[in-house]
Amino acid sequence: ASETILACMNNTRQFSSVEPVQSPRADLIRLQNLTMHYQEGDRQRTILDNVDAVFPQGKFTVLLGQSGSGKSTLLNLIAGLDQPAAGEVWIDHQHMTGLSERERTLFRRQHIGFVFQFFNLLPTLTVLENVLLPLQLNQIKHAKTRAMDGLEKVGLGDRHGAYPDQLSGGEQQRVAIARAMLHEPMLILADEPTGNLDTRTGEQITQLLLELVKAERQTLVMVTHNPEMATFADKVYVLEGQKLHEKNG
Ligand code: ADP
Ligand code: MG
Repeated sequence: ASETILACMNNTRQFSSVEPVQSPRADLIRLQNLTMHYQEGDRQRTILDNVDAVFPQGKFTVLLGQSGSGKSTLLNLIAGLDQPAAGEVWIDHQHMTGLSERERTLFRRQHIGFVFQFFNLLPTLTVLENVLLPLQLNQIKHAKTRAMDGLEKVGLGDRHGAYPDQLSGGEQQRVAIARAMLHEPMLILADEPTGNLDTRTGEQITQLLLELVKAERQTLVMVTHNPEMATFADKVYVLEGQKLHEKNG
C-alpha cells in the first residue's frame, strides 16, 4: 500500500518535489548497435557489427569466443579505452560514448577495475605500491590500511614489500585482483585472467575473483577461453561472426 501511495504522490503535481522511487536497474551495461572496424591496409575489417547486448548488474557474465574474434576489442569499448565506429555504450546511468576522453578516463578510474591476462603490474613498484595506486588516484582515505587489508584477503599480506618479478604468476594475478577491486568499482572487467596460469591456479584465481565480487555485489564480465567457466556464470555470450550470441544452458 505504501508503494501505491508513493507512486500516486509522484504523479501528483503538488508533490513534485518528492523524488521518484528509483527501481533498481537490472542491467549495468547496455550496448546498442555497437560497430567497430580496424583498418587493414586499404580495406576496413569489421570486428563488431551492430552488436546489441545487456550485462546484468551484480552478476557474472562470461564472454567466450575464438582467438581474434574481438573479445578484447569489446572490453576496451565497454571501458571507454576505444571509441566505436558507431553505436552506444551505457554503463549504469552513464552514456560512455557521449563522454570526452578525459571524462571517460575519470569514469573508468573510479568505476571500473581491470584484470588482464599478463597481470600488468608495474615492475618498479612493490606489491603494496601497485595496490595503492588506484586508491591514491581516487583519493580514498586510509589507503594504506585498505591496501594491506586487501592483500590479506587475496592471501598475500606478507608479500607487500616484494616486487612483481619475485612472485609466481598466480601471486601476481592475486595482486592484480586486489588492485582492480579495492577502490570498489561497480564493474570488474577481466580479460582472460587465467590465460597465463596452469589449470589449478586458474581455478583458484577464478574462485577468488568470484568470491570477492559477490561479497561486494560488483558486476563481473570475464573473457575466457575456458567453456567450463560458463557453469559458474549467470549469463554467457559467445562472440562469433561479429555478433554477440547469448548461450542458454
Ligand atoms: P580476441 O581478444 O578475441 O582474441 P581482439 O579483440 O584482440 O580479439 O582482436 C580482434 C581482431 O582485431 C584480431 O584479428 C586483431 O588482430 C585485430 N585487432 C585488434 N586490435 C587491433 C588494432 N589496434 N588495429 C588493427 N587490428 C586490430
Ligand atoms: Mg583478447
